[in-house]
Formats: sequence, C-alpha cells, structure tokens
Amino acid sequence: MRLIQRAKTGSLSREGTENNRNRMGEIQGSPVWDHSTDIDDNSTQHDADAVEALFETVCSTVERFCQLDDTNTNPGIVLAQSKPPAELYWQAVHDVVELSKVEKILNKSSFMHKGYKNRRGLIGACAALAWEPAVDSARRAPGRTFELIAYRDRARWGSERVWDPKSAAVLSNVIPTSFDNYDFQNDIPRILPHTPCPVLYGIRGTASGELPRALEVVNTEESVDRWVIFETNHASDDHIQPLQIRQFQPYQSVQLGGGVTSEPMVMKGGHTFFELKDAEGDRVICAAYEPTKQFRDVVKGLIPGDKIVIYGGLRGPNGSNGDLFTGSDQKVPTVNLEKLEILGLEKEMGKVSNPRCPSCKKAMKSIGTNQGYRCKACGIHVDESAAEFAPEARKLELGFYEVPPCARRHLSCPIELFNKS
Ligand code: ZN
Repeated sequence: MRLIQRAKTGSLSREGTENNRNRMGEIQGSPVWDHSTDIDDNSTQHDADAVEALFETVCSTVERFCQLDDTNTNPGIVLAQSKPPAELYWQAVHDVVELSKVEKILNKSSFMHKGYKNRRGLIGACAALAWEPAVDSARRAPGRTFELIAYRDRARWGSERVWDPKSAAVLSNVIPTSFDNYDFQNDIPRILPHTPCPVLYGIRGTASGELPRALEVVNTEESVDRWVIFETNHASDDHIQPLQIRQFQPYQSVQLGGGVTSEPMVMKGGHTFFELKDAEGDRVICAAYEPTKQFRDVVKGLIPGDKIVIYGGLRGPNGSNGDLFTGSDQKVPTVNLEKLEILGLEKEMGKVSNPRCPSCKKAMKSIGTNQGYRCKACGIHVDESAAEFAPEARKLELGFYEVPPCARRHLSCPIELFNKS
C-alpha cells in the first residue's frame, strides 16, 4: 500500500525554501509548496464552499483518469478535516479491514467521501489519512520515508520509457540518503514502474530535501512534466508483527524467533524451504522462492540447530493465493521470507577421515553412501558415525540477511536503513 500524506517541513535545502515554505514539487514549471499546518489541527477551519469545490475537483479528476473497466480498480476518495483513528491504519497494515467498519467511521465523522464499484478503495483512502509516522525510539526501521515521483508528458503515456538504466546506479552516490535505486547484485534498476502508468520514475529516500537532485541525475530523453515529493510508509516495516505460530492469521506479516529443525530443501524451480520451531514447539515452513535470488544461498547455508528470527508474510486462507497451511492434516503455515537474523550458529561437524579398524587399526574403506565402513583385512563393519569428525567453518555469520532489492516489498525495511533516521 502506498500512503500519500502531507509533506513535512524542516528537511529541505535552502534553495528549496521560501518564506518558511518548502518546495515539494513542480507542475509544468510552477512550484508546489508544502503547508505548515498539520492535517489534524482542528483550529484551521476551511471555507465550506472551497472544501466542496476541492472535493468536486478530486472526484472529477479521478473519474476522468481511472480505468474502471479493470476489475481491480475500485477507487475511493475521502476528504477530511480531522484524522480518522490511528488504530484504523494499524489494522489495515496488519490485518484485514471490513468496508463496513470504514463506512461507520466515515459516516460518524461526516467525512466527505465517494466510493466507486465495490467501494473498497475507501478502506485504503481512510487508512492513509489515519496514518501517523511511528516515533518509537525502540524501532529499527524509520517511521516514514519519502518518494519523489516524476511524471511523464501526457503524450508519452503508455509508450516505452526512454532512459539510461545505468544512471539509476549512480543515484546512491549522489544522494546517499536514497535507497533501493538499483539492484547491484542482479543488475536491475528499481526506479521505473513496469506499467503503462503516467509515472516516469520514483526515487525513495530518508531526507526529502535531497531527493530533487535526482532530477539532474536520472538520464532520460523525456521531459519531466511534473514532480512531487510524497511522505510514505515505504521501508517502515509497519506490516511486521511479532507473533507466535499459534497466533498466525492469513495475510499477516510476522516476526518470529525459533530454531531451524530441518535441512534446507531445494524444490523444482529453485524454491528453497526449511522448517522452524518456535518456543511453544509449533512448526512453520520458511520459504525463499526463486525471485529472492541470492537470498536463497543464505537459506541453503542454515542447518538444524541454528537460532534465527524470521520476517515475512503469510498467505491467504485458501484459493488462488494458496493455503495458509501447507497440509490440511499437518496445519503447518508457510512464511514467505523477507529477511532473517541469525542469533546463533550450530556447530557443523564435517568428516575428517575414515575410521580405523577397532581390531587391526588399519584405515577402513567406505562401502557406499551412508552404508558405513569395512576393514578389508578383518572384514569388520562399522557404521557412518565411526568416522572422525571435526567442527567445520560455517559460511554464515551472525546478523541480518535480506532479499535483494529486486524482490523487496515496498513496506519492507532494507537493513541499510535500520536505525538511520
Ligand atoms: Zn581390521
């Protein structure tokens, strides 16, 4: 979910500031300024006619451009002069919100609103207004980040975007507070959408004032018709809830500590799985699917006994999204991993040499895989465990590992942003 809210003051460069206002965008050459009053400041009373006119403008604009023939397009518009309860945001980002609940809030608060088709767009619109960036000092992830969105000339909408993908690779040097511009492991730029939408590119960062520099860096033959900086919950990890397995519900995203209880298994297509047990003794399947690329090598390096914390999303209850539980008898849920932290590594024992014969002390020969050893001279047989073992160096270290940027969900916080803002 992308949340769009007011732009905050205080972090823009001097060039972008005028009369204590900050330039948060530009539309066909005209500046867009932020506003200094908070949306939840009820002392600001707006003229009723002006509010009505604004609502009409928003509705007619949405009606003009939205593609209602798409089954997944169900827009909702909410115009409010006070905030809906913050609890609505947290429920929307953690669980499932019924439309009836949102309609109750809308009607009780007399918010101006309009829903189209199945009207479920009202849920996201109302939850976005309810959002307040979290300011808990114990958080690792930022409470909010920013995204500069540059838009295309209307004549170009739907056509292929003409630009130099390598220019996305230098963005993190020019704007060190920007993130996920380019997936260097997989050589994939991350700033362009893959849809025929009016967006030319989007640059995410933790300091809004530094983002306009991207307009000079991204190398494109297209002119930027307009650009606007949005305050967002990208990279906030707001979707993640610390839960035990027995509390899991469909569609939740969870943080769970436990011990690895199986060797990693690589399935057809390169999807990689292992089993984890939590403190209650319940089990969960952890999945790193093929699109998570190099992250699967981390998963393959785990062994039973490793102590880890996983972060990831649960599937829906059933239907096309698959089952929350992989087997109806076993009731073992599957978590699609976004990242994991290794807290403890089990000693991995590797074979150093074949066993010596207990009788004649000569080196014994292997009979075959997992079939033990035999002394050629005496004929004595011993099993596999009689070989000499010693601890092997583990490839993994303690700490965090994550999927590469090309596989990252918008809400998931890159490790590089932990405790940085
Ligand atoms: Zn022997």
